[in-house]
Amino acid sequence: MAPRITELTHDSARELVLAAGLPEYRAKQLFNWVFAKGVLDVGRMRNLPSAFRTHLETVFDVGPPKVRAIESDRQSTTEKFLFDVGAGESVEAVLIMEGDRSTICLSTQVGCPVKCGFCASGLFGLKRNLTRGEILDQYLAIRTRAAELGRPITNAVVMGMGEPMLNIPNLLPALETMNDPEGCGLGARHITVSTVGVKKGVERFTEEPRQYTLAFSLHAPNDALRAEIVPFPAAMTCAEIVDAARNYLEAKGREVTFEYVLLDEVNSRPSHARELAELLQDVRGTVNLIPFNAVDEQPFRRPPDHVIDLFAEDLRYRGLKVTVRKRKGHDIAAACGQLRLRNMPIVGS
Ligand code: SF4
Repeated sequence: MAPRITELTHDSARELVLAAGLPEYRAKQLFNWVFAKGVLDVGRMRNLPSAFRTHLETVFDVGPPKVRAIESDRQSTTEKFLFDVGAGESVEAVLIMEGDRSTICLSTQVGCPVKCGFCASGLFGLKRNLTRGEILDQYLAIRTRAAELGRPITNAVVMGMGEPMLNIPNLLPALETMNDPEGCGLGARHITVSTVGVKKGVERFTEEPRQYTLAFSLHAPNDALRAEIVPFPAAMTCAEIVDAARNYLEAKGREVTFEYVLLDEVNSRPSHARELAELLQDVRGTVNLIPFNAVDEQPFRRPPDHVIDLFAEDLRYRGLKVTVRKRKGHDIAAACGQLRLRNMPIVGS
């Protein structure tokens, strides 16, 4: 099968135009149509010679990616997209509109090997990595939708399905194109990648010259509890995460975020807040508390509001910077993987 047109790079665009006997500036025009304008239908690339456009149709799978389902919440602040990635598989991506911010949440893998206890994406394990083009397809399709709503994209977060640091060879080139002024043109500081902590991937990400934002999905104040919530043996320990956060600050001058999903009676007690404050006392960063979104198949519950408030206040009192994620899109299965789960074929019935 032909590659998606979103697999195009500066180099491959140059090779294509030169092989077609065209001047080099045509490569820039082609790259601009795809990533700056988000036009994936070659018929609309009006400034390119028509014979070259016809040729592109034989080289690439063109046109917008296939979307299997779209859901929006009642407040119209969140839209969730289920992208068909072939072989009966799909991945989710989300447009989140909040004040002046419009954020795209992207997936990097089909399924996920980490299998966090609270997440639907990991229920069936990992199927495969997404390619650079499949990651960019999500971004471009949702950016186009956001433009229709009059919402320019301000941020991208790689927090959807999959563990991004296990797909570094596709993730980094996708981010590069997202950030490229001749590509999607989104500022590196507005791009956040979230990881449970995969040592090699985090080290490679830290070496990147671009000023991306790094977030660790911590979810517990100690290794024993973390192993229950994030049952991935290759995940870094809490101490290694703290070290990596310090390294990131030193190397990039960027503070990291510690994501912490609050699960009732599991990691939301006052003793957990105390332990978390101790763990993070010597590292600069922000704790982002994410009250759990119920997933039917999972045993966890969202803590009552007063427990969430108390946990946040306790951390602040102990000197940590804390944000609490607002409740968003819970009526459209906002937690990662739920839309995919509901759209999976029912086996054996
Ligand atoms: S929360 Fe993220 S890392 Fe954990 S299973 Fe879900 S997709 Fe994977």
